[in-house]
Amino acid sequence: MSFESLGLQAEVLRAVADAGYDQPTPVQRLAIPPILAGRDMLAGAQTGTGKTAGFTLPLLQRLAAKRPAGGRPVRALVLTPTRELAAQVQDSVVTYGRHLSLKSLALFGGVSINPQITALRRGVDILVATPGRLLDHAQQGSVDLSRVEILVLDEADRMLDMGFIRDIRRVLKLLPAKRQNLLFSATFSAEIRGLADGLLENPERIDVAPRNTTAELIDQKVHPVDRARKRELLSWLIGGQDWRQVLVFTRTKHGANRLAEQLERDGLSAAAIHGNKSQGARTRALAEFKAGKVRVLVATDIAARGLDIDQLPHVVNYELPHVAEDYVHRIGRTGRAGREGQAISLVCVDELDLLRGIEKLLGRKLPSETLPGFEPDPRVRAEPIENGRRGRGGSKPPRGGSNAPRAASARPRAGDSTRPGHRGGQSSRSRRRAGARA
Ligand code: AMP
Repeated sequence: MSFESLGLQAEVLRAVADAGYDQPTPVQRLAIPPILAGRDMLAGAQTGTGKTAGFTLPLLQRLAAKRPAGGRPVRALVLTPTRELAAQVQDSVVTYGRHLSLKSLALFGGVSINPQITALRRGVDILVATPGRLLDHAQQGSVDLSRVEILVLDEADRMLDMGFIRDIRRVLKLLPAKRQNLLFSATFSAEIRGLADGLLENPERIDVAPRNTTAELIDQKVHPVDRARKRELLSWLIGGQDWRQVLVFTRTKHGANRLAEQLERDGLSAAAIHGNKSQGARTRALAEFKAGKVRVLVATDIAARGLDIDQLPHVVNYELPHVAEDYVHRIGRTGRAGREGQAISLVCVDELDLLRGIEKLLGRKLPSETLPGFEPDPRVRAEPIENGRRGRGGSKPPRGGSNAPRAASARPRAGDSTRPGHRGGQSSRSRRRAGARA
């Protein structure tokens, strides 16, 4: 099937050809015709499926079809969970709209608001925004959403995970009642279904299995290892097998920072990328990673969402995610576009329940290989994983007797404990959100 047969106009087809796409992806085949016809949509699709073009191409065409009388009001609004994703969607809008005369703008926090106000004043057809910064603009009257014709919620599950539901509802109140609504989400929780029910009118439902759930091209492997020796094993894998580009996932920002520093000490160029880093620092780290100047990029799940990096040869789960679906997202970064990739999980005794949850989701057991010299000590007891941080106390380090060489004790070091005030008054949701918007 060709892009031509989907009903796209010449200017859009030219941009698609410029981008080098020969054929629409499944989500594009399913999404483009109903969106062009003005239907609401509930789409199950994750990053890597081509979903951005799936909604952007028909959105551009619908906007280009008629010019509104009077000025250049915002006629399409795309909400995204992170600034990275907003920037990336905005890039796609520019790429696919290059032969049309529509204006677009990305609005996200972490950068000065004034240039955004100036750009809004000049007139924008398509806004790609994170909810928090959009509401800041709405509050100070620098954006008018009363003429929005098309609303897209991109990665809606992530937005809810990050605690944006109230912000989304506030944004919805600023929109006219009559509009086209498109909701894209990788997963469908009860909360997402609730949002969709209230938002969508007789939606076209499409579902594209994540490209990598079956993951034939991804070599997935678990290496059991003691928690205290994960870093040593990681350095050994990277150095010993001469991996040039590896994306490593941790559960927390703190863990990402610490690991990147330790890897640097091991002589491996590494950078951490997470919500507490400035926009500049994140962009720089990503650019250096892509350019091959940084060999190891350490990321949290939220920071990694929306990062335009895929087709990586190696992805490592330094710590398993709390949510099994995140495992699928993580490993989806490798083995793309028909290339083979490797997804390695370093699993300690604390994480056996998480591993079982992942295997249940995948419907199969992951192959496990204990590496000589890194055999887990059977006397190390599981410790609770709390908000991705290990609690104080727990088991004593094993004393002597192990065959495996030990680089460090199994006891968590001071830096592992929860930071002061961590369990204070703030809810976990607002904490997550504060982090995401920081
Ligand atoms: P997305 O799922 O929207 O993040 O897109 C993932 C990647 O697929 C992006 O780098 C797009 O440039 C690329 N892409 C989107 N549509 C196509 C297509 N029809 N053919 C080839 N690559 C595509």
